[in-house]
Amino acid sequence: MITKILGGGREVGRVGLFNKFDGIEFLVDYGFMPQEPPKYPIESPEIRNAFLTHAHIDHSGMMPWLCSRYNTNVFSTRLTAEIAEILYRDSLKLAYAKGRSFPYGENEVEIINDRFVYYEQNDRFLINDFEFHFHPAGHIPGSVLVEMVDSEVAFACDINTIDTNLVEGAKPVKCRTLFIEGTYAGVNHPDRDEMEKEFIDEIEDILKRGGKVIIPAFAVGRTQEIALILDRMGEEIWLDGMGYKISEIMLKYRQYIKNTDRLKKIFEEINFVYSGHGRKLALKSGLILTTSGMVNGGPVIWYIDKIKDDPKSAVIITGYQVEGTNGRMLLENREIDLYGIKTKVNCKVKYYDFSAHAGHNELLKFIKGCSPENVVLFHSENPEKLAEEIDFAEVYIPENGEEIKI
Ligand SMILES: [Zn+2]
Ligand SMILES: [Zn+2]
Repeated sequence: MITKILGGGREVGRVGLFNKFDGIEFLVDYGFMPQEPPKYPIESPEIRNAFLTHAHIDHSGMMPWLCSRYNTNVFSTRLTAEIAEILYRDSLKLAYAKGRSFPYGENEVEIINDRFVYYEQNDRFLINDFEFHFHPAGHIPGSVLVEMVDSEVAFACDINTIDTNLVEGAKPVKCRTLFIEGTYAGVNHPDRDEMEKEFIDEIEDILKRGGKVIIPAFAVGRTQEIALILDRMGEEIWLDGMGYKISEIMLKYRQYIKNTDRLKKIFEEINFVYSGHGRKLALKSGLILTTSGMVNGGPVIWYIDKIKDDPKSAVIITGYQVEGTNGRMLLENREIDLYGIKTKVNCKVKYYDFSAHAGHNELLKFIKGCSPENVVLFHSENPEKLAEEIDFAEVYIPENGEEIKI
């Protein structure tokens, strides 16, 4: 097989893996990096079939462009497709608001809706007589690991192997060649249970002292996971941004969520912000879960502006912040781009690693469990950290634009 890396080579985000086998060509994921301005992958050659492993924009974002150009079929779960559509429309809205050009418009989003071919987790199906198998990827609800059965190739684009509150962890898939993300190469996650406890204790402390807690969280996956944790506190929770709509969609697909009934109850009781007035009420109440997860826009900016100089209040980051995002700047330099102006943030800034990605040791264990002969590492800023420990297989760390032959 030959694989060309269109994006995600030695970087986290904008994944695109273009694969050529005897008798079939297909693309796995095609996304852009959601920063300002976005970073796009290399232009894909004409392609008939593509797989979309999950809805996150760094994997899905360029699919409408692809479909409208080449009439590509996009194989994904129904939940992934439904969430992706919302993210496409949101990306368009953001581009219009910022007054910058974008690779596609509303029309292309309509086109992709007709190009999706749905299969669910654990389904096996044929394309050009090649058998494919969708395995649960444990990353977010509806996410899959794609196995090409006869060729013994597996694509693990964003996986988690531990059980979280929202989804169950992924199990290894025996294969000869494994493509796998390495977002957390070289970094181990803290113990999840302990961290959840610390997180809750800290929030309770801040609220008790009269401070406000702003929790930026990705609408897809993180918002639901954090809501399931916050629920244990019994405090009033306010939700602002896209997380509510996404949760409603997820709740239609019970099979992909571990605690559906609890999640349903939480979202029936949560205080959702509909208006500017609601935003003031939310701030007064003090515990707010909001988008965007990397602080690159959305209602979170308004809230940070309001609390940034209050030493009693805190912004609590709950996930990986890509280089070049406001969230990364906030963590590293205690400042953000606030309506176009670099602004110091003087309130507390905390980081809790509620990742939906496997940590270093988990990745290694998962890779061993797949017993591959070849491992291709992508979607990683530090792939060498993982490569150093893989002495049982040939390791490839391709650059963007590189073609590897296995
Ligand atoms: Zn993802
Ligand atoms: Zn990703």
